[in-house]
Amino acid sequence: MHSFAKRRRPLSLLVTAAALLPNVAAAAPPPAPKLIVVISVDQFSADLFAEYRSRFTAGLKRLSQGVIFPAAYQSHAATETCPGHSTILTGNRPARTGIIANNWFDVNLDRPDQRVYCAEDEGVAGSSSENYTVSPVHLKVPTLGERLKSADPRTRVVSVAGKDRAAVMMAGHTPDQIWWWKGRGFVSYADRKPTPAVARINAQTDAEIGRAAPSPPLPPGCQARAQAIRVGLEKEVGVRLPPREAGDATAYRTSPSFDAETLALAAGLAVEMKLGQGQGIDILAIGLSATDYVGHGFGTEGPEMCLQLMHLDRELGLFLAKLEKQRVPFVIALTADHGGHDAPERNQLRAAPDAQRTADALDPGSLGAAVAADLGLEGFVFTGDGPAGDLYVSASVPKDKRDVVIANARKRLLAQPQVEAVFTRDELGAAPKAILPPDEWSLLDRAAASFDPARSGDLVVLLRPHVTPAPDTGATIATHGSPWDYDRRVPLLFWWPGVTGFEQPLPVEIVDIAPTLASLVPLSIAAGEMDGRCLDLLASAESNCR
Ligand code: ZN
Repeated sequence: MHSFAKRRRPLSLLVTAAALLPNVAAAAPPPAPKLIVVISVDQFSADLFAEYRSRFTAGLKRLSQGVIFPAAYQSHAATETCPGHSTILTGNRPARTGIIANNWFDVNLDRPDQRVYCAEDEGVAGSSSENYTVSPVHLKVPTLGERLKSADPRTRVVSVAGKDRAAVMMAGHTPDQIWWWKGRGFVSYADRKPTPAVARINAQTDAEIGRAAPSPPLPPGCQARAQAIRVGLEKEVGVRLPPREAGDATAYRTSPSFDAETLALAAGLAVEMKLGQGQGIDILAIGLSATDYVGHGFGTEGPEMCLQLMHLDRELGLFLAKLEKQRVPFVIALTADHGGHDAPERNQLRAAPDAQRTADALDPGSLGAAVAADLGLEGFVFTGDGPAGDLYVSASVPKDKRDVVIANARKRLLAQPQVEAVFTRDELGAAPKAILPPDEWSLLDRAAASFDPARSGDLVVLLRPHVTPAPDTGATIATHGSPWDYDRRVPLLFWWPGVTGFEQPLPVEIVDIAPTLASLVPLSIAAGEMDGRCLDLLASAESNCR
């Protein structure tokens, strides 16, 4: 580790360089943060950022005046919440973090439910993927916070999120404080007691959920987006966020109040713990989940998302102001775990006639039954979490039949008009390292970045673009998770007080965040330990990446 001061050039050199290169701005030193704040806005796609960017007036406007990468990639294929959060602070893709999906299957797991949740400890007796004990045990690599703590035990790591998997994957294995939402308030690991800030926010939130709330009024710019869209037989979206009944915590979670409380808790802990005022460098990770719940429940292009993003902008502005009052040098990085796209019913009306929902034939149960009938096999042949992603050959299939089962299923899947590609575990295991920028990656490159030989399926199914793997009868009407750029591409914004902003439209990766933040400390990372690279955040000839 070399000291920060050592990297600054002597003044005389700067003067000489500036005289020789009159078009180069005077070199600014990199920021020297005492507090690193990383914010993940769940399902905040690059498309949403572009669409609303000119409309932001508060926090997101200020952050947009920093160093902007409008095309940052969650470069892997399985663009879900858990893998996406596992890349943000580890500098590694899911193939190395081990977090290949929100859920995977362990066909040898000795419990009735062979589905494994990414942030559970299935070693706890009596657990299932639905009723689990939250744990970081599946995360195979350290986070930036853990690395900072190893280098200097005075570092503190704080993680707060609307979802347990977001909080856990950004915190890593040794957080000082970690809080995620469950039921009607923020909870933590069994041995953690609520701090005064946690107790205060939880009491406030509980009282708010206890009261009924009218439909929040649409901000002026969102009213023009109101257009009723029929989804299936039962549901209509596109008009407004519905009113909330007293006690309805699910509706609360799908409203701007949810992010407001999450940010209030993050700010409360920052004040309470005096983050950035100690001897070490502190990390505050924040996962804001309401955008994802609104996207799933109402799609991305209606007035509901407009309302959500306008509130998010406002709340981030209030959060920034609170942070500035602490008078500690800080750096913020804001990004997302994945992107998303709109419900097929609205897309069909809006120049995307190929938008559609998945056919029943792709369901692992239906596929398995067809394969079993072809081959004269009995029982469940396949297990998997849905029509796309990882498919596992059941343990009941005889070893000498596995290859023929896989070949038969692949042929059947490729005959489906909604399937774009099917890879086997052998193909994914042998895939060469991707060398092009992430927007130019092949589908094999993308799927290989999500591949872990111990956890991935025997087959990985990728759907065609604009195919939504959700029925029109459930609470989720729009989703993400595909290998396509609308799900992979997210904004990445770096900001600190006094930043000289610039924009770099060329693609970067979310795994670049950790090595970039490490360079500001500076904390050295051994070559090859991270998939990402350090991004030069200084517009001048000076660089933070040395
Ligand atoms: Zn997500």
